Amino acid sequence: MAIRDILIIPDTRLRLNSQPVKAIDKPVRALVDDMLETMYAAPGIGLAAIQIGVPQRVITLDLAKKDEPKSPQVFINPEVTWASDETSAYEEGCLSIPEYYEEVARPKSVKVRYLDIDGKEQEIAADGLLATCLQHEIDHINGVLFIDHISKLKRDMVMKKFRKAARRGDGNKPSFKDDVPEHHIG
Ligand SMILES: [Zn+2]
Repeated sequence: MAIRDILIIPDTRLRLNSQPVKAIDKPVRALVDDMLETMYAAPGIGLAAIQIGVPQRVITLDLAKKDEPKSPQVFINPEVTWASDETSAYEEGCLSIPEYYEEVARPKSVKVRYLDIDGKEQEIAADGLLATCLQHEIDHINGVLFIDHISKLKRDMVMKKFRKAARRGDGNKPSFKDDVPEHHIG
């Protein structure tokens, strides 16, 4: 197991459409181990494989609170099969867009079909934070970022700051005066 570097915008790999996993073999299980270790170290509550530079449709989540035991979840080739008309807004953050938080409205409930780590097909009905995180991470494997769901004005501002930080080479971390770190979604 190893903690891997997390890609930060404007890294163009974050815009790739990730490929489906064909077989859950040893390399895929090793990828999942690295993803979980990287996610816990960040710390984050979710991670998509592309965030560590691997364009495969693999997502890890752990929504356990600090005082609760770890509860890792792995979703391979996840697909939203149903989404509610009703939406809810949540202040999202992303390990690939560090320290920037913005409210995003998404379907309140979703159903997601996926393969578990044993290759068994599963379907989960999710709402609340789980629904938000699943949608955020499934967006990642489709090359979509949460800032794509906010206004163009705000998105342009964020991209500009991160492009500048990347040019300065200071770890790609611009500062956002008004933002207090609260939730890292992943
Ligand atoms: Zn993210």
